[in-house]
Amino acid sequence: PGDATAEALQYADVAELLPRPTAESDKYRRGVVGVVAGSARYPGAAVLAVSGALRGGAGAVRYVGPAADAVLAQFPETLVHAGPPSKAGRVQSWVIGPGIGDDGDAMADVLDSDVPVLVDADGLRFLDPARVRGRGAPTLLTPHAGEAAALLGTDRADVEASRLRSVRELAERYGATALLKGSTTLVADPAGGPVRANPTGTGWLATAGSGDVLSGLTGSLLATGLPAREAAAVGAYLHGLAARLAATPDGAPILATDVAGALGAAWRDVS
Ligand code: AMP
Ligand code: MG
Repeated sequence: PGDATAEALQYADVAELLPRPTAESDKYRRGVVGVVAGSARYPGAAVLAVSGALRGGAGAVRYVGPAADAVLAQFPETLVHAGPPSKAGRVQSWVIGPGIGDDGDAMADVLDSDVPVLVDADGLRFLDPARVRGRGAPTLLTPHAGEAAALLGTDRADVEASRLRSVRELAERYGATALLKGSTTLVADPAGGPVRANPTGTGWLATAGSGDVLSGLTGSLLATGLPAREAAAVGAYLHGLAARLAATPDGAPILATDVAGALGAAWRDVS
């Protein structure tokens, strides 16, 4: 009962949830997001995840990984750190996974932290359900259908055929908030409740690197203090809206970089 339904996050809900700085804000109080992404082979994933994180409302972004030079060349605002994430200084959330390839060394360190963790892309290959369930802070998983299939031990066609059931099962099995990407992105919470469907998606988002922007953006929203299910829904909403604004008025192809660049316009549109 109720299994076939999902509810959409509305414009007014998003406006209400968007974090806004106050007179008392400083960059630390606004939230610091740590990003573990990129590799020698995929430095661009680090740049894109950081680009989303810088526009997600957090006051600062710490980058940990081997693509610091590429990140700094694009975004001198980034604080970069060598060594394990736990030595990088205090953060209010972690994003881990885009473009890390087969290097899962930082995963245990990040999962040991007592702050919310968003796991995306390659990072999803290093997850043990029991380890995620045992965390003392929220975890948010952001797979596309193929990654979700691997997490559930099934195949992609099976996830595509039953997306609502799949996103619920992910949330239950991992004790995590699950955001299942696709033409209609779905968000399920481990506590149950209705699945949320994102109304702003556009096929122009089906382009390399757009998922990396989403993970940085959503992780940044987590750092501002939004609960995982709200951060996931607001992140997907702003990401889709930014893509629409970037593609408008001509309906021309867009780059993941354009999506990140249009996030400011998406915030203004919602505010
Ligand atoms: P990734 O698969 O990690 O590169 O992420 C792709 C992003 O594009 C996700 O935010 C998806 O929800 C979005 N996306 C992919 N295909 C479509 C589509 N056909 N319509 C709307 N959004 C899409
Ligand atoms: Mg991806």
